[in-house]
Amino acid sequence: MFKSGDVVKVLLPNVVNTGYDYRLNAPADLGTFVECRVMNRPYIGVVWGLADSGLPDDKIKSVVRVLDAKLSVTDLQWIKRMSDWTLMTPGAVLKLIINIPDAFSPPRYEQLYSFDFDAKIKMTDARQAIADAFASNDNDAMSVNDIVNIAHVSQSVVRTMVKNGTLLPTDSRVVEKENRFVHTYRDMGTVKLNDEQSAAAAQIGDAIARGGFSVFLLDGITGSGKTQVYFDSVLRAYNAGKSVLLMMPEIALTAQFMSRFESRFGAPPVVWHSNLTATRRREIWRGVLSGEIRVVVGTRSALFLPWQDLGLIVVDEEHDTSYKQEDMGNYHARDMAILRASLAKFPVVLASATPSAETLENVATGKYHGLKLTSRFGGATLPKIETIDLRENRPEPYQTSMDENAPQNAGALSVPLCDAIRETLNNHQQVMLFINRRGFAPIVQCKKCGWTATCPDCSVGMTYHKRIGKMLCHMCGHTEPIPSACPNCGNEVSTRGVGIEKIQEEIMARFPSARTALVSSDTIASRQSLERIVSKMESGEIDIIIGTQILAKGHHFPNLTLVGVVDADMGLFGTDFRAAEHTFQQLFQVAGRAGRGEYPGHVLLQTYQPDHPVINAICVGNRDEFMKMDMDGRRSAKMPPYGQLIAVVVEGNKENILQKYCADLASVAPKINGGRIMGPVPAQIYQVRNWYRMRFLISGDVRAMLQPIVVGWIARVKQPTNIRVKIDVNPVNFM
Ligand code: ADP
Ligand code: ZN
Ligand code: ZN
Repeated sequence: MFKSGDVVKVLLPNVVNTGYDYRLNAPADLGTFVECRVMNRPYIGVVWGLADSGLPDDKIKSVVRVLDAKLSVTDLQWIKRMSDWTLMTPGAVLKLIINIPDAFSPPRYEQLYSFDFDAKIKMTDARQAIADAFASNDNDAMSVNDIVNIAHVSQSVVRTMVKNGTLLPTDSRVVEKENRFVHTYRDMGTVKLNDEQSAAAAQIGDAIARGGFSVFLLDGITGSGKTQVYFDSVLRAYNAGKSVLLMMPEIALTAQFMSRFESRFGAPPVVWHSNLTATRRREIWRGVLSGEIRVVVGTRSALFLPWQDLGLIVVDEEHDTSYKQEDMGNYHARDMAILRASLAKFPVVLASATPSAETLENVATGKYHGLKLTSRFGGATLPKIETIDLRENRPEPYQTSMDENAPQNAGALSVPLCDAIRETLNNHQQVMLFINRRGFAPIVQCKKCGWTATCPDCSVGMTYHKRIGKMLCHMCGHTEPIPSACPNCGNEVSTRGVGIEKIQEEIMARFPSARTALVSSDTIASRQSLERIVSKMESGEIDIIIGTQILAKGHHFPNLTLVGVVDADMGLFGTDFRAAEHTFQQLFQVAGRAGRGEYPGHVLLQTYQPDHPVINAICVGNRDEFMKMDMDGRRSAKMPPYGQLIAVVVEGNKENILQKYCADLASVAPKINGGRIMGPVPAQIYQVRNWYRMRFLISGDVRAMLQPIVVGWIARVKQPTNIRVKIDVNPVNFM
């Protein structure tokens, strides 16, 4: 399309600019990758369109080289549309795609190390994290950078392990093994779909065969076989010569899943996530670009691989909030996948047992096709779900020592729950206790004057973590020892409230012979450490597993028959409009863990409000009724999906400058048809790492194009230095 010598605009993977003009030194198309220099540094960009800088000829630099690879025109449209929607710059979107620094040059030479799993050394947390980093890369040799980035350890830990011989230098750099990620897949005939499953698979299959854009919601209770149905779709698209992306939340990328994939297709999937070595990332990226790798299972960032001829995207657990990226730009990977499919014209399959309100609404209006799986495969029954009214069943205190005079601790587990635990243990079955709160106790307080420990840099309380023996800020990670006396009045301080560590203490006091395991982001540094616990559960080495939401999904423990939810009320009173939906999803998923094998499951919810609609809906298992109620409420409040929201969070390290800037913005706030600009108000967490935060919330009609209004509004006030403005379209997190 463009000849050598033409001047074109090149989009660079860069947050700030919208592209520069360059002269081509070889023919190129729209979307062709080119290498350019900016301020004497090499960058890979893409040909974005006609030159528009108006610079005189002699000021235009030439590209370094035109590469033999490109993005399609629909990919370019996708970048543009994604940028219009999320208000990220096109360059910022391109940066998500071109995130491999040396994608087009020979691999860099770096000293690599292998891990000596036989070395006789004491396993510390850091060493375990390093071992896990190797395991998540099939024990490929790694550079020091890889180890530091993936295991989140310091260089000095790595150096120590090199000295003591646990990390062994390899003779030379790893030569990329040609095609080690290129597999052929075929149906191994290991699974025969039942009638309901076949009917769903056939509808998706027709859409794949027909081509064109469509979205399916594969809606089925846990254990109904959604995975097997979309595996069927994967194979059909693959056999039609297309590429296929299977997106899942990071923690669902389990060994269990991989082996199911392999047993159905005869080869393992190519896996993409944030903990791969630089070499692996490069190999997979290049393999996808060349079209040789056609099936990838990955987290949300896999959507930004340089896909060739995508023919299907599956979004598993479509309701999962991990699809919403919030640090480097704000995008929702599920929605951006659907956008991509609508431009390139292919089907998308969303799978969930608890679909989001947005998706259910799209099914209700006929934009998406709903497909239902109504029974558990193999006739496993759904668990019986009951409440324990905490007003009538106050937990009894417990003692951590046999000494009769030892102090009594306030308990959190009621008598009926303890009875059920005892009975389950007596039957040699397993128990899961769910409480969505990390640490030992969320509050450290003086009983006399009420002083409460807060983080010095953030406006949040410190959580006491007994495992590390310190208080920890969950916003910034700051730690402090618990004060020996109240800094205000000198009296004794104590902890209040219940986290998972305290539940473990209570369990050990009440069931001293039970073997317990704790699962939270503090104890689980990687998927490998989670999988170690999963396999201990499977082999029966754990009797009671206690955990946060990490436990809620994905796993299949045949011998788990009792699930206890310690505080079912937590989350019901969240301040954002999705609180009830998210609580419901979480509890519904947790409940789905019980009774997946031959024994029926039992779920007990401890609550002070057994009549609350969310609790009720979970007990009767009536998801549709609950979602209808929740969505009716949103409809009358004009909340998504019946209205749109954009959040603008303004941060500054000088309070007066921040307040002045926000007041100036408020004074020029435009009128919005069917909506308004609310704020500024202090953000729910006003201070983080010593920066202050204010927020505006912009609401509008579903059909309103709010983005240009917001951009125009913010442009009207000159932004002082040391102010950050973060725009979040369709926010999920309201902190
Ligand atoms: P979901 O994804 O809906 O939770 P899964 O696909 O994980 O359900 O299926 C639950 C269990 O039933 C899995 O162990 C799966 O292998 C098995 N299963 C589902 N459908 C079939 C089938 N048609 N043939 C054999 N096993 C099946
Ligand atoms: Zn005090
Ligand atoms: Zn903090």
